[in-house]
Amino acid sequence: MRKPDGIERLYIDFDSFFASAEQQLRPELRGRPVGVIPIDTPHTCVIAASREAKQQGVKTGTPVAEARRLCPGIALPAARPEKYVEIHHAILAELDRHVPVLKVWSIDEAECALIGRERTGAADLALRIKRGLRAAVGEHLTASIGLAPNGLLAKTAAEMDKPDGLVVIRPEDLPGAIAHLKIEDIPGVGPRMGARLRAAGLDTVEKLYATSAKQARALWNSVEGERFWAGLHGYAVERPETKTAAFGHGRVLAPDWRTPERALACARLLAAKAARRMRRAGFAARRLSLTLRYGRGRGWGGEAVLPAARDDRTILSALDALFARALAETGDRRPSQAAVMLHGLVPAEDRTADLFAGEASARQARWEALTDVMDRLNSRYQAAVVNLGPRAAPPGGYAGAKIAFGRVPDRADFW
Ligand SMILES: [Mg+2]
Repeated sequence: MRKPDGIERLYIDFDSFFASAEQQLRPELRGRPVGVIPIDTPHTCVIAASREAKQQGVKTGTPVAEARRLCPGIALPAARPEKYVEIHHAILAELDRHVPVLKVWSIDEAECALIGRERTGAADLALRIKRGLRAAVGEHLTASIGLAPNGLLAKTAAEMDKPDGLVVIRPEDLPGAIAHLKIEDIPGVGPRMGARLRAAGLDTVEKLYATSAKQARALWNSVEGERFWAGLHGYAVERPETKTAAFGHGRVLAPDWRTPERALACARLLAAKAARRMRRAGFAARRLSLTLRYGRGRGWGGEAVLPAARDDRTILSALDALFARALAETGDRRPSQAAVMLHGLVPAEDRTADLFAGEASARQARWEALTDVMDRLNSRYQAAVVNLGPRAAPPGGYAGAKIAFGRVPDRADFW
């Protein structure tokens, strides 16, 4: 297992998201205690409390009657999920201007992987993101940002100084930086696990930190314990996913982009973007799929097998071949949407050395090295400075709706 020697993850978590969103949208609620409720009835509970309401003891789960008793002046607006989803998209778009989003964990939480100079300048990057969000999304929607060697510690850091916090945990700060926390403050220790750990005498983070990986595995009664232990100790481990991981992007094509040539150009952009996010997460893909839709009619879908690839050249060549197949099978119909997905993910470091033994594989290894250099250049200059093959300007400034999948939660995910 690799142990990063610096900061590799940025975790952002918005403060009292739904309540702040209402204060952003309705100026008359600013500075006032607000408790967002799911539906407009007295027989329900608060699902998000503004910081003013929290100061009066109102929190998520407080029944409406009690909220009124604790805080007589409280405003109790009914939730407007469609507005929050809009804000969520605005947040992701702004984040994406500063650093690609690695994973969206919920409507108000996201994780970014940092590379190159983003790592050494992580605190500055976090401040730029905060400024950008204030300007683009609104100053009443504050967020707390955590910076750390891995996702678990970055999420922990983001929760350490709310609201509007910025906490950095460096490898050398461990375990001191987290020693004062309650064990339940560490993501992955819920009330149940907390009770089990306390029963085993592990009632402080310090004691929890002092366990061995083996002990942690026994306490969790699964490999999850080892994963938690490794995360707590600053190793580069991904937090477990609830769904199978895949990296994908899709677009509705603007009317003047509905030609085979331009649809392919768009698909290449989408694939390159998905591959970049995949590399940041430390994965390689075994499969690439392409989906094209034609107006209201049926779509075309195809899949290519990849040699556990992470470099642009391998992925884009496979995409070109897939696209040629689509054209051959559908004739010259005009695609209205294109979507690309990388799946069958394997941790890039887990690929065996003999994968790179043959001549073809040696070439792939060289392309990988080149791709990594390009990633660094592009991240340094905050733009696509270098690319493989022709790169089209984004289709009509990406006119048309963005098809989000695997990346943006549906209403159902938080509702
Ligand atoms: Mg939050």
